Amino acid sequence: MRENIDGHALLIGLMAYPIRHSLSPKMHNIVYSKLNVPYVYLAFEVTAEKLPDAIKGMRALGMRGSAVSMPNKQLVLQYLDKVTPAAELIGAVNTISNDDGVLTGYNTDGMGYMRSLQEAGIDIIGKKMTLLGAGGAATAIAVQAALDGVKEISIFNPKDSFFPKAETIAKKLNEQTKCKVNVFDLADTERLRKEIAESTLLNNATGVGMKPLEGQSVITDVSMLRKDLIVTDCIYSPRKTKLLELAEAQGCRTLNGIGMMIWQGAAQIKIWTGQDTPIEYVKEKMG
Ligand code: NAD
Repeated sequence: MRENIDGHALLIGLMAYPIRHSLSPKMHNIVYSKLNVPYVYLAFEVTAEKLPDAIKGMRALGMRGSAVSMPNKQLVLQYLDKVTPAAELIGAVNTISNDDGVLTGYNTDGMGYMRSLQEAGIDIIGKKMTLLGAGGAATAIAVQAALDGVKEISIFNPKDSFFPKAETIAKKLNEQTKCKVNVFDLADTERLRKEIAESTLLNNATGVGMKPLEGQSVITDVSMLRKDLIVTDCIYSPRKTKLLELAEAQGCRTLNGIGMMIWQGAAQIKIWTGQDTPIEYVKEKMG
């Protein structure tokens, strides 16, 4: 029992299904305890069918906000009063803020990635990056990177159902931002080599490298990984993916997805409480 939880305490939810495995409740409650602020974060099993009622419940109970994960990230937009330009472009919301009954949707995944680079002293603004993947994480990163001032993004993905979505988002970003965004077939290895050669940074935002694809890497030809290329991976479990191992062996600077995970949560905490997250404390507590 936290002693600061009284009749004024505020509830923050996490609406997703399945969700019991999530580390977010632990991380958020550790932070709220440390900051000594009267917020409680609880996970709720909310399926797509239950989502409209869950949002109504959020309004009725005066909840401070909620995190949103699969399968609700895209569905939830229609039930909100406002969405940020980034969340609108991404087409997905992972954070809802309830401000006096007005529900606003945000997406903090891309913010988390960009902030993790900044905190690691990696400057990608005005430069070119190659992005592997076109799913939820990759889209959030592409949008935030374009909005933040990355000059050029080359997206590579297999020609699966995600590919046309990447083309749509690239078109929007080319129209609405100064960033030049191109989408290429991952099977085009010569193009991949060329784009990486012109990039300051390469990021993996596919699931390749984590279970069930642990031990695998999208990049297998290490000659694509020159020494001064920065290589990042959204995956944080395992801490070092095969791609990061290969990149390290080539002498590249590398960064895993822990920073992205923590900073996207820190961005949520800022939205809900106005407070900065004690990042080092969180890293220590979350291991
Ligand atoms: P998603 O399912 O939305 O997208 C998966 C992407 O991987 C798609 O572009 C798909 O085409 C691609 N892909 C699948 N199999 C592939 C293969 N064999 N070769 C090449 N590409 C392949 O998933 P997501 O939510 O975007 O998550 C992607 C990765 O990012 C996951 O590993 C996830 O753990 C990680 N992630 C990390 C954070 C963080 O905070 N660090 C946040 C979100 C996601």
